Order: sequence, then structure tokens, then C-alpha cells
Amino acid sequence: MTITYPPEPFRIKVTEPIRLISREARETALKEAGYNLFALKAEDIFIDLLTDSGTGAMSQAQWAALMSGDESYAGARSYHRLKAAVEDIFGFKYFVPTHQGRAAENILSAVLVKPGMYVPSNMHFDTTDANIRARGGHPTNLVIDEAFDPATPHPFKGNMDIAKLKAFIAQYGREKIPFGMITVTNNAGGGQPVSMANLKQVADVYHEKGIPFFIDAARYAENCYFIQQREPGYEYVSVKDIAREIFSLADGMCMSAKKDAIVNIGGLLCMNDETLFGNVKNELILREGFPTYGGLAGRDLDAMAVGLYEGLDEAYLAYRLHQTAYLASRLNEAGIPTIQPAGGHAVYVDARAVLPHIPQGEFPGQALTVELYREGAIRGCEIGSVMFAHPDPETGEMLYPRLELLRLAIPRRTYTQSHMDYTAESLTNIKSRAESIRGYKFTYAPELLRHFTARFEPL
Ligand SMILES: *Cc1c(COP(=O)(O)O)cnc(C)c1O
Repeated sequence: MTITYPPEPFRIKVTEPIRLISREARETALKEAGYNLFALKAEDIFIDLLTDSGTGAMSQAQWAALMSGDESYAGARSYHRLKAAVEDIFGFKYFVPTHQGRAAENILSAVLVKPGMYVPSNMHFDTTDANIRARGGHPTNLVIDEAFDPATPHPFKGNMDIAKLKAFIAQYGREKIPFGMITVTNNAGGGQPVSMANLKQVADVYHEKGIPFFIDAARYAENCYFIQQREPGYEYVSVKDIAREIFSLADGMCMSAKKDAIVNIGGLLCMNDETLFGNVKNELILREGFPTYGGLAGRDLDAMAVGLYEGLDEAYLAYRLHQTAYLASRLNEAGIPTIQPAGGHAVYVDARAVLPHIPQGEFPGQALTVELYREGAIRGCEIGSVMFAHPDPETGEMLYPRLELLRLAIPRRTYTQSHMDYTAESLTNIKSRAESIRGYKFTYAPELLRHFTARFEPL
């Protein structure tokens, strides 16, 4: 079924040129990059769908707000404007700005996580996971099983498995769980939303045991819009009121403002507990800056204060989430399977379905990612064996992830429908000559986070 696509609720006043280099130039660029798209020069990319983080287009109101940035070291007007927006939307008693989401996670983990502790979530994003591990903690993912079945069109695939959560808490106990989390939308699980009913249950389970509940809120506005569209009883509730309801369930949140606050840099850490706030401020001063600027310029705080409201605009959210669904539906019509339903910020293409002749050991996700650059100068991101395959520590046998995906993340307000059409057509062309596409092997691979710096050679 073709998704009806609402026209962009903005017109374009400032443009940034992009250029399509020739096929030969793309081939040379690929060779020089060792067939790793992270190593390309951004100017050699026509459409960049590597990430939706910090890559959105700011509005005229945000650019105007930059000019009113107050660069006072302490107590700047910019801070107070951001504080008013944060209190109005999220309703927590205390907050600090941070330079991005992982800085908020670092501070929260530094003050609460001790070696041997456990932090449950539906799925931790990789920086959250790494920050908990860096303090000796064990991040644990307890999402519902449907999250791992790409074909099931469950409306809230980001939901926590409540039975697993209860069993987990019974096993480890309050003393070993400094706080519990949930990620909305669930980025690591395909940008899938969590329902209000599930959020309420999660809050109840944590609070029954006295465990503080923190939300990873990077894409909270997209999650709220999904609730309005999909959850009975919320059809007539505004996205902003849904947001207020969600955050009233929690004791705090971390947020990367580079997502739903539509800024190029920024983050937030909010909480209700006064003692925790005191400890957070001390850690923040050590790592980020004074509590009224937290690692950002005053102008960044102003852009964030405006962007937080723009991210909640329902005409914008309708356009944004339909854009993602539109790209997925164009691909599905061409016989290219994607994770169902489309997530909020990205479309995940099933690379093994497009390249069934390439075994996992030869990286079908990477092969499709490289091919999309070769075909259309489009940059996506492999989420498959390059990122996740690793030898079993005991047997040495190679363990492969369940899915080999090509992620197409959509920057906010940046590309138009014709860019989506071009992307769908490029993948359709690839599908028609899929049998001729070969796999890859490593020529260099570091042990950790190898997808960023590995080099490859075609087989
Ligand atoms: C991006 C992201 C983060 C980390 O934020 P940064 O601003 O990149 O440091 C944390 N959690 C989720 C769900 C994210 O998407």
C-alpha cells in the first residue's frame, strides 16, 4: 500500500548544495575508503542517511534564537529560557544541560552505578550501554520478543517485557539496581515506540521496589506521536500532553537533544531528587562545565529551547513519520523487505533478503551499504555482522547477529520527497542486479567498535 505523504510543513529559504560525483569518482572514493563508508569525505556523498543525530535543519526561529544567546558564564538568560522550556515540557524539578546525550549518561552512571550493579531497560543504546559498563555495571535488555521478528507489525515493538522485568528485579534485588531505564523510541531496536500502558506498568514495577525510573528520551516526541496515532484513548490528546503524562511517571531522564530537539549539539539530564541533583552538579562541573551551561555555548541553549517545542509540533511530526513510512512503503512495493512497521527515524532494509547468496561471514549488510553508495552516492549504515559478529569467548566459534541490516536514517527537515524517491529507485536498481553483487572480507579490523575504522576488500 502506498503511504500518502503530507507535504513538508515548511518552505526552503536557505539551501546547502549537494553534488553527485561521477560513477568513476565514486569507485575511486570507495577504494580509498577501504569500502568503509565512515571513511568517505562527506562532500563525496549525495544523500547522507548515516544518522539522524545532529544532522537536522534548524528553523528560522532557531537561527534567530542563536543571536540572542547570552554567553555569561553563570546564570545566563539563555539558561533561564531553556529552563522554562524544560520545566514546561518535562516537568522534572531539576535539570542540567550537557553537550550531548552520552555526557548525561556518563554523569548519571558516574554518580549512581557501582561495580557489579545492573541497569535494566527495554534496549540500551550503545553509548548508554558503554557508559554503564565503564562504571563496572551490567546493562541488561528486556524488550518484548516481537522486537526481534522483523516481519511482525506490532504497534509498540519497543515495549518492555514486564514478566522478564519482574523476574530480573526478583533475581538481583533493589540494592543491585541503582536505577531502571526505558528508551523511547527504542533506537537499538529499530526506532520502535513504547506504549503508554507499558510505560505505566514499567513505572509501577520499578516504584514498587523503590527503584528510580529514568527515561532515555532522545526521540520522545516521535514516541508520543505514535501513541496518539496507535494507542486507544490517546487519539484526541495532544502530543505535548502525552509527553507530560509520560514524564510524570518517571524520576528523571537523559536526552540527546540532537534528535527530537532538532539541534546540532546538546543534551539534557533531568531529575526530581535533590540529593542526586547535588551530586550531578558536582560531576557536571568536573566534566562539562558550570551547571547553567553544561558544556554548551549560551546560543546552543537558546536553539535547544526553541527546538524542543518545534519537535513537538504535530504537523511536523506527521510529515516526519510519514516520510519514514513513505520510504519503507516504496521499498516494500519494489519487493525489498524492511523491518515492520517502519520506525520513527529510520528504515531498516533486510540485506539478506536482497542478497541471499552472500553468507553472513561475507557481510551482506556491508555489501548492500557499499552498493548503495556505488549506485546512488547514498550513505547508509550497516547494522549487522561488521558491527556485531564476534567469536564465542569459550569455543572461539563465530557468533553472528540475527539480522543483517542496512539502516537509512532520515535527518530532520533536511531532505524532501524526491530524495526519498531517488533512494528507493537506487535500491530497486540494485535489487535487479543483485546476483552480480559479491561479499567482502576484512583487510583491517580493530577488536572493539570495528565498524568505525575497519577496511575491506571485495571478494
Ligand atoms: C543518540 C542517542 C544517545 C546518545 O546521544 P549523543 O547525543 O549521540 O551522545 C543515547 N540514547 C539514544 C536512544 C540515542 O539515540
